[in-house]
Order: sequence, then C-alpha cells, then structure tokens
Amino acid sequence: MSQPGVMDVTVKKRAELALNDDFLRKAVKFTTERLRNGKKAASEEHGNWEEWRERGRQIRLHTIAHLDYYLNEFVNNARANGVHIHFADTSVEAAAIALDIATHKHASTVVKSKSMVSEEVHLNHVLESAGIEAIETDLGEYIIQLAGEAPSHIVIPAIHKNRYQIAELLSKEAGEMLEPDTTVLAGFVRKKLREKFLEADIGMTGCNFAIAETGSMVLFENEGNARMVSTVPKTQITLMGMERIIPSWTDLEVMATLLPRSATGQKLTMYMSGITGPRRSEDGDGPEEMHIIIVDNGRSLQLGDPEFQELLNCIRCGACLNACPVYRHIGGHAYGGTYSGPIGAVLTPALNGNIDEWNDIAGASSLCGACYEACPVKIPLHDMLVYLRRRKVEKGHGNKLESAGMKGFAAVVSNSKRFSTAIRLGQIGQKVVVKNNGISMKLGPLKGWNSYRVAPSLAKRSFRQQWNKLDEELNQGKKEMDSSVRNRMEQILREREGGGQHEH
Ligand code: SF4
Repeated sequence: MSQPGVMDVTVKKRAELALNDDFLRKAVKFTTERLRNGKKAASEEHGNWEEWRERGRQIRLHTIAHLDYYLNEFVNNARANGVHIHFADTSVEAAAIALDIATHKHASTVVKSKSMVSEEVHLNHVLESAGIEAIETDLGEYIIQLAGEAPSHIVIPAIHKNRYQIAELLSKEAGEMLEPDTTVLAGFVRKKLREKFLEADIGMTGCNFAIAETGSMVLFENEGNARMVSTVPKTQITLMGMERIIPSWTDLEVMATLLPRSATGQKLTMYMSGITGPRRSEDGDGPEEMHIIIVDNGRSLQLGDPEFQELLNCIRCGACLNACPVYRHIGGHAYGGTYSGPIGAVLTPALNGNIDEWNDIAGASSLCGACYEACPVKIPLHDMLVYLRRRKVEKGHGNKLESAGMKGFAAVVSNSKRFSTAIRLGQIGQKVVVKNNGISMKLGPLKGWNSYRVAPSLAKRSFRQQWNKLDEELNQGKKEMDSSVRNRMEQILREREGGGQHEH
C-alpha cells in the first residue's frame, strides 16, 4: 500500500521535498486550519462533545471486540437483501475480485466515488491495466487522478493543490484555458462527469459504516457523486474494510454526530445515503446487481494485538491530520503510504504487517498528543507511535549517535547539579553562535532543525538562577514579597527537589 517508487526514498527526503514546496505548504496550512477551526466550532456548539466522544469510543471498542459476531450478522442480512458478498484476504485478492466482476459484466467504464480502500488496493491501476476506464467522481479524487498522484489527505485528497494548479490540470483535460475560478472549474467537472455517470457499466463506492442489524451500508458525502454512482449504473460494487461495521442504526446516530463534525466541521454532510441491497421491483432507481467486497488486507493482524487493536476503531475522519503540527507542514505524500498523518504513521506499518520496513515514519511526529485530543473515538495514536519507536530501537535499528545523545541527556537532566553546570556551560558556550536570540548554524544535530527554523538559545539567566537571585535580594531586604506567594514558591521548590531532583 505504498505509493509507487516511494520506498526508494526515505521519509526524511520526502519531508524535505515537501518543506521546500511553498505551494504545498501554503495550501495544506490554509485548509487544515479551516478544517480544524470548523471542527472546534462544531464540537463546542454541540455542548457535550466529550460525552459523545466517549460513547463513540465505547461503540467502536465493543464492535471490534465482537467483530466476528457483527460481521456474520451483517453478511447474513446483506445476503438476505440480495447482495453478493465476497471476502478478500489481501489487496491483490480484493482488486482481482473487482476486476473479475467487471470482466464478467463486459464493463468498459467504471465510475467511482471516494474510497480509501480502493486506493489501498490500487484498484484504478488494476482496472486500467485490463483496459477498463476507471473514473474518480469525487472532485478531489478526480483532480489527483488527472495529476497521477495519490491522495494526500483522507478526506480532502487534493489538499496540497491550489486553484491555479487545479485550473492548469483541468484546462489540459478541457482542451482550453479555464479560469482559476472555483465555479468555472467545478462546472466543467460536473458536466464532464455527468456524461460518465450515464455511460458507466459499474458504479463503485467505499463504505463509511456497515450496519449489522439490517445488512445496510452508509455513505457520507457532500457532492452527490456517491449517490449517482450507487443509483445510475446497473451494477454496484462496494469495497469496505472489514472493520467498518457498527451494530445498529442507533449506533449510527452517534457516529453521524462524530464523523462530519470531526472531518469538516459540518453538523451533517450534504448527503447521507443508506443502501440496503440492490433495486427492488417497486424502487424507482438503484443498481440491479450489488456486490460488497469485504477487505482484510492486514486488519486481522491487529485483532488481539494489545498495542494496535484500537486502530480498528478509526472512522477515517482525518481530524488527527488537521491537528498534527508535522502533517500541517509536510502534507500527506511525505508519509509514503495510502494513509498519512498520525493515523497513517501507525496504520501503514500495522496494515503491512511489516513494521520494520515502515518504522521510519513513526519519527514524523512531535508526540504532542494533539492527534489523540482531536480523535472522535479517542485512539491513543501518540502511545502507538512511541511503541513503534521503541520497537525500532529494540530491534537494533536505532541511530547510535541519537541513542548516545539521549543517554547523555538523561544523565544530565536527572541530576540537579549536573543540569545546572550544563546550563552554565551552555550559556557561556553559546555566546559565539547566538544571533538575534537564536542559534541558526546548520551543524551537527542542529542541521535538520535549523534548515527550516532557528533554534532558541538558552535564556541569559535560567529560572533557577533568577530564583536564587531573587532569594538573595529578599534575604538582604532589598525586595519584599507577599508572604503567601513566597511560601507557595518555596513549597514548589521543595516538592521539585524532593521528587527526583528535576530542575526545569
Ligand atoms: S485516528 Fe481518529 S482522528 Fe484520525 S482519522 Fe481515525 S478516527 Fe479520525
């Protein structure tokens, strides 16, 4: 599930490329900020967001703990509704099943709505190799398909492109210059895709949630394209990860509250479709034949794994990407896999079952925990990232210089005297390199950091030095301090010294 050729380049190199791309940085920053603010406003307006987050987490924990039961219930009900169910162990198998159905139907055109699983199994490539035209109909997906790129965000696949770049791509497709105006560009795509919807033999969708109690699948979207894909062509194929299940429509109420708010800051997406089997005789539209391919592709490896099972709770809202300070600077392609951001940094190695091959992307995190705070189902991604890093070191893939540095750092900060001495030496030593209150030299361990920012210098006087000075002045009667403030400060200092001699 890597992007083509990606394993030839390290995550560091890919991040460097992204950091040097001003267009990308501005576009990603602009949109992630908009999404983050939207989510904040929507969750605050909701009122008891934390309570619903906990409910969402409990539903996901319960479902995944009983996944075999609910998957069985879903499959039995979907079959009773007239749906053909297929199981795929691997990405290759999933793509082969979809191709087999398309070949059997003599399909020449497939229209697709947004599906991360389809990206995961490289379905477009497989269909096109067999001479079947596969057309993405989500606007963002359509743009990156024209650009020959992979999505760089779970929800906004073309987040890294601005409207001028999009106008250039669409102009090539139109055979004439299109204004970089969103109404003009969207109008062109709408007209173009409308023809494709009408001529397509097969419609292909993803699945946000599969409801076990009725064997239905639910799609959230804003453009109406998923509804076109799932109603106009005679055959529908749905690709779903095996963990997309929730037990009931009542549980969907919670998920429908959490997903759109977390993803785009909307109370609800423009369209929410529930599909329960193919068209019945009394229905006005809908596919005559419906297939659901349930994809494992490494997911069952996470079942029962104490470190990773909670990954299966993910509802693919993308909120952790928008919250992540690393993602917001480097965008999605730097992560190298189908999924990016904090969830991608953990999911990619976990789904591949090859943690060693992908262990470098766990380093693309500041471990600030913003992903956990943003996650509507409270997945502790930061803990999983620490686990991946620990595994890397335990397996002997750590950086020796970094390990020695960390040991030295631990020895210094765990002892008050050593720490104070190091601070004093640092304050003296830095005089030759500090300019404008920062250290900008690109040498040694500072090289990577200082390529894009300036490292802060040590304060001229540390907190401890300032405290001692104040203490001296107070004792000499040069200053006066409110006794309650003084008592509290002395208490804090005593506690710090008593609690392991840490100095901050
Ligand atoms: S890990 Fe959480 S925040 Fe990130 S995509 Fe999944 S559900 Fe959303």
